[in-house]
Amino acid sequence: MLSPSAPIARRVPVAIVGGGQAGLAMSWLLKRRGIEHVVFEKHRVAHEWREARWDSFCLVTPNWQCRLPGWPYAGDDPHGFMLKEQIVAYLEGYAASFAPPLHEGVQVTRLRRVDGGFELQTRAGDCFAGQVVIATGGYHTPIVPRSAERLPGTILQLHSSSYRNPRQLPAGAVLVVGSGQSGCQIAEDLHLAGREVHLAVGAAPRSPRVYRGREVTDWLTDSGYYDIPYERHPQKETVREKTNHYLTGRDGGREIDLRRFALEGMQLYGRFGEIIAGDGALLARFAPDLGHNLDQADASYLSIRRSIDQYIEAQGIDAPCEAPYMPVWEPQAERTSLDLAGAGITSVIWAIGFAADYRWIEAPVFDGRGRPVQRRGVTDVDGLYFLGLPWQNTWGSGRFADVGKDAEYLLRHLALADTGVG
Ligand SMILES: Cc1cc2nc3c(=O)[nH]c(=O)nc-3n(C[C@H](O)[C@H](O)[C@H](O)COP(=O)(O)OP(=O)(O)OC[C@H]3O[C@@H](n4cnc5c(N)ncnc54)[C@H](O)[C@@H]3O)c2cc1C
Repeated sequence: MLSPSAPIARRVPVAIVGGGQAGLAMSWLLKRRGIEHVVFEKHRVAHEWREARWDSFCLVTPNWQCRLPGWPYAGDDPHGFMLKEQIVAYLEGYAASFAPPLHEGVQVTRLRRVDGGFELQTRAGDCFAGQVVIATGGYHTPIVPRSAERLPGTILQLHSSSYRNPRQLPAGAVLVVGSGQSGCQIAEDLHLAGREVHLAVGAAPRSPRVYRGREVTDWLTDSGYYDIPYERHPQKETVREKTNHYLTGRDGGREIDLRRFALEGMQLYGRFGEIIAGDGALLARFAPDLGHNLDQADASYLSIRRSIDQYIEAQGIDAPCEAPYMPVWEPQAERTSLDLAGAGITSVIWAIGFAADYRWIEAPVFDGRGRPVQRRGVTDVDGLYFLGLPWQNTWGSGRFADVGKDAEYLLRHLALADTGVG
């Protein structure tokens, strides 16, 4: 790797923006192919895993799916789920293994098309590149609703990316808003620590962890699900917008069933609406859709089980049977408001996701919502590529599992172009 103060190359054939797993995978392939390039990373390698995850965070995907080019998981627990510091070490080890031409602490503040390529502006100097790969992840700006401004200063508010552990929160009950992977796992973290948790449940789907004697990821690998490109997926391009299924890798991996949490005392509500003042109190309001959202999460859970049953039957596999699924809890009534002071809420955690922010890129490659329009990472602007987007091609595109395959696909495009820049 370059020393922090190394001067920035004025002209390079390829520039990669982002030093996470996607940027490093691309760099590894370019280096092996002998294509000169640089990697710009705003912070440090693995920044997102290091700084935007809670202390007890672990992978939801099994370790064996960490298979970056030239750096497959080599530990002794392929079916386990690496903890946060192990993930950071895995990525740091990757970078150390091939010494990418990496400039850490260098943010690209503006990218624009110029004759024959692209100008990348940074505070450490500008760079001209014939081709550019944007590998800046998909989780840029934490989403917090404007309604949050109505909460008094006495209530601590955090986005899920700033949550670390239960000790960080003042004594009292916690409202977690959002039931995607982060919301569910943070709610569980607090619940296991004995905190009183209120959870606003949205439309996120859920997945079984182990079914008919095997990890679900093993079944889905064998049945070819992970190889389906989004174009052949029943949901087509809309699958890129879907919230991830919730389950956890904690303690060796298990399902998350919010109904079970409810039985254990967690207070569940429907989708969060707003904060309003009413009857002399500050109220959090929710849609009357908790029952519906739990049923929908179960529907996705059951459809995964069904697809595995069909695969087992079609292949004539001898696999143990499972008892039919029975919900363990049903809401007796929809509760649409929560008196925050009355319930002793002292913290609110917003776990409703992130918005993408590509305003620094000046190129006509975005749709009306500011998302890159790309096919397998290739845009309509010659020489401008994206890598690491959710479902860029397959389920594993935005994950450790298959970002390497997408990088290999881009390598074929990058290697074909003779930019004459160097
Ligand atoms: C809560 C959560 C849990 C996840 N769990 C899993 C899991 O279990 N398994 C799995 O496979 N995947 C998981 N993912 C998905 C995915 O693996 C991660 O989001 C991963 O961080 C994506 O890697 P990346 O390299 O594409 O992007 P990032 O890790 O986000 O890296 C992008 C890098 O670009 C840098 N950057 C951004 N803008 C600029 C700029 N203008 N100039 C220079 N540098 C810039 C950032 O500092 C950052 O380091 C999870 C994601 C989240 C949010």
